[in-house]
Amino acid sequence: MPADGTDYTAQLESLLEQAHAKGVRDPRVLQAMRQTPRHLFVPESHRLYAYIDHALPIGEGQTISQPSLVGQMTQLLELTGNENVLEIGTGSGYQTAILRRLCGRLTTIERFPRLTLQALRNLQPLNLPPITFVIGDGTCGFPPYAPYDRILVTAGAPPKVPQPLLDQLSPDGGKLLLPFGSRQYQRLTRITKHGTRLRAKIFGECMFVPLVGKYGWKSEELEG
Ligand code: SAH
Repeated sequence: MPADGTDYTAQLESLLEQAHAKGVRDPRVLQAMRQTPRHLFVPESHRLYAYIDHALPIGEGQTISQPSLVGQMTQLLELTGNENVLEIGTGSGYQTAILRRLCGRLTTIERFPRLTLQALRNLQPLNLPPITFVIGDGTCGFPPYAPYDRILVTAGAPPKVPQPLLDQLSPDGGKLLLPFGSRQYQRLTRITKHGTRLRAKIFGECMFVPLVGKYGWKSEELEG
C-alpha cells in the first residue's frame, strides 16, 4: 500500500484496460506500465486524477503525457531489451520508467532542471537500473552515447526533424519516434534508418507541448 494509504491497484488495472482498448497490445509494454504506478509521477494536487487517461500538469507549463499514448509510443519502439535508447523530454519521468524496464541503456534529456530533479525523486521508489539524466537541449541529441538504437521525443517538434537526432540514430535499423508538425497538432512519426536511407511512417495525430531548442521551436516563436 502506498504511503498516502490509497490502494491504486484497481484504478491501474482499469487504466491498462483502456490502454489495451486503444491499441496497446504488447504484453511487455502493458507489464511495464503495470509495474509503474502513475500516481508516483503526478503532483499531489492532481493525484486523484492519476489513473484517468489524460495528460496532467507537472509544473513549468509542462505535462505528464496521456498514459495510453505513452503505451502506444513505447510499443512503436519495438524494444527487445538490449537497445541503447535516448529519450528527449524527461518531464515527470513516467515514460522514462517504462522505457527503462524494456531496454538495455537509457539516457534522458530535459531542459528544465527542476523537472529533472522532480523526476529523480519520482523514480527513486522504483529501484530501476541506472539511467543517465542530462539537463540541456535535447534537439542536439547527446553525442557521447551515440549511436542510439532508439530515440524517443516526447515533445512536439516543428515540421523539420532535428538533424542531430537523425545523425545520432544507428544506421543499423535505428528508429526515431517523434510527434512533428504544427504547434497545436502533430503527427506521430517513426523514422527508420538503414545505412543512409531513411523511411518514415505516420501513426496518427497527437498533441504535445512544444519541443523548444536550437533544432526545435524557438522560445520567441511560442510567445503570444
Ligand atoms: N514523457 C514526459 C513528457 C513530458 S512533456 C512525461 O510523461 O512526463 C515534454 C517534456 O519535454 C517537457 O518536460 C519539456 O520541458 C521537455 N522539453 C521540451 N523541449 C525540450 C528540449 N529541447 N530538450 C529537452 N527537453 C525538452
